[in-house]
Formats: sequence, C-alpha cells, structure tokens
Amino acid sequence: MNVQWYPGHMTKAKRMMQENIKLIDLIIELLDARVPLSSRNPDIDELGKNKARLILLNKADLADERCNDAWMEYFKARGCFVVKVNAKSGAGLKQIQPVVQEACREKIERDRRRGILNRPVRAMVVGIPNVGKSTFINSFAGKACTKTGNKPGVTKGAQWIKLNKQLELLDTPGILWPKFEDQQVGMKLAMIGSIKDEILNTEELALSLIRFLVQWYPESLEKRYTMADGIIAGTDPVAVLESVAKVRGCIVKGSQLDITKAAGILLEDYRSGRLGRITLEFPDIGNK
Ligand code: GDP
Repeated sequence: MNVQWYPGHMTKAKRMMQENIKLIDLIIELLDARVPLSSRNPDIDELGKNKARLILLNKADLADERCNDAWMEYFKARGCFVVKVNAKSGAGLKQIQPVVQEACREKIERDRRRGILNRPVRAMVVGIPNVGKSTFINSFAGKACTKTGNKPGVTKGAQWIKLNKQLELLDTPGILWPKFEDQQVGMKLAMIGSIKDEILNTEELALSLIRFLVQWYPESLEKRYTMADGIIAGTDPVAVLESVAKVRGCIVKGSQLDITKAAGILLEDYRSGRLGRITLEFPDIGNK
C-alpha cells in the first residue's frame, strides 16, 4: 500500500490521533525493524507525552538478527520498552503482555492506590503506513477476542478489542506520516516499499540499494544472482544491475538489457526477504 501524504491528510491524521490518545493509557508504536529510525514519526513524542509507550520492532524476520539485537539495546538504553516481533507469523507476540504490564506499572499502581482494581490497560497501535498495524492487530487480537464498547446498532465512538482482563486495544490504528522531507529517509522507505518513490526512479533506487548491499551485504547479491564469491567487491553498481538483468533474462528488442525490469526484480527480491535478512540502518553507524 503506497500512501501519498498531503498537508490535509497530516492535519486530519494528527487530529484523530490527538482525539484517540485521550482515551488510552499505552501507545504501541510499530517500527519497521529494517529501518527503525526512518520509520519513526517525528511528532509521536510530542503527541504521546504522558503516555506509556511500547515499541515493537516489526518485520523482524526481514531484518538482520544482529541488528535487531543492537536496536533493542539502543531503545532500551533510552528508557523505552521494546519487543521484536513478526506480526505476520505471530513470532514474539507472547512476549508483549508482560512488557505491557511493566510499561504501565505506574498507572496500575495509581489505580490500586485509588481503590480501582483490575481496570484493563487501554492501548492504541500507531505507525506509518505499511509497517504492519492491521496485521499486528489481527494476529495479536486473534479471532477469539470479543469487541467491547458499543451496543449493537450504535456505530459511534471507539471500538475496543478485549484481549484479556488486563488489556484492551482500540480497533483502529493511528496512522502516522513518515519524515519524508528527509531524502535519506524517503529513499529507505521507498527501498522497503512503504512509500511511493518520488525522489528517485526505480533504477536509481535499485542502484542506491546495490551500493549499500555491496558495502554491507555483498554475499546476499552473490548468492541470489549466482555471482562468483568476492566478485561484487569493487564492482560498479551499474555493472551489478546489468548482471542481474543477464541472470534473470531481462532482455528487450532481441538483445538489449532491460535495466528497468532488473531494477524492479532486485527491489522486489529485497522487499520480500529473498535477498536475505537485511537492515538498512544501524544504531552505531547511523545512516549505514
Ligand atoms: P499497515 O498499513 O500498517 O496496516 O500494514 P499492513 O498490516 O497492511 O501490512 C503491510 C504488509 O506488511 C502486508 O503485506 C503484511 O503481510 C506485511 N507484514 C506485516 N507484518 C509483517 C511481518 O512481521 N513480517 C513480514 N514479513 N511481513 C509483514
């Protein structure tokens, strides 16, 4: 799903978020584990101040496991609660509940002092488009849950999904806009397929990805496109893309290489995980 953002959308999204944030105790912020910083919304800290926060590194299955661990440490060192998950398969979801209790300990203790026992934590899922919000809500809530809140026939107001005695989830996620004004961020989000690329065309985007892969994950290219070990190092990105075109038989007009098609194949191979588990930014190196 590619979403274009205009100032009108952003104002509306922000207003909805401000309304819904009043109803909740906890923000569950989904980030894409391949680009944890680039997939963060710059306004969430301001919007979510005074609320407990849990960060989920989603699509952890597509990201480099060593980088996942490094990002977990990064966020923990900044006082955040964080869990890595795969919303699609459900991996990691079991670890969420205890961390929610920990993240909301102040609220739970405050309730207890006031004599309010067993009031569930109310949470909202937020994140940029395509980060996996709907997938997460569906798999986390599962099919067994009941919706609470509105009486039949009354459609107004928030719908809550009752997960268990301790936790209720708002059924509509908050959509945050990305920091697309930053070119580097825009490019990485385009590489993972989360935003429509307006900065570069497919070929330029693929070439940028190749440049990155040659530096950090050369073996992923060698393996996927059956290139000899070590051949990638020092190779010009255009030559790599041409090799991909040859290996994949991207030919037009009898003999010319179809570079645009090869670029599309490479990007799709990356986005789907067929190139391996690859993280595009790393905490120690910044914009890796
Ligand atoms: P939303 O726009 O944030 O609601 O994102 P969606 O829930 O529609 O997910 C966007 C795409 O990412 C879908 O194709 C999902 O199947 C996929 N997806 C979501 N979570 C994961 C995950 O943890 N791993 C992988 N590999 N794919 C995921």
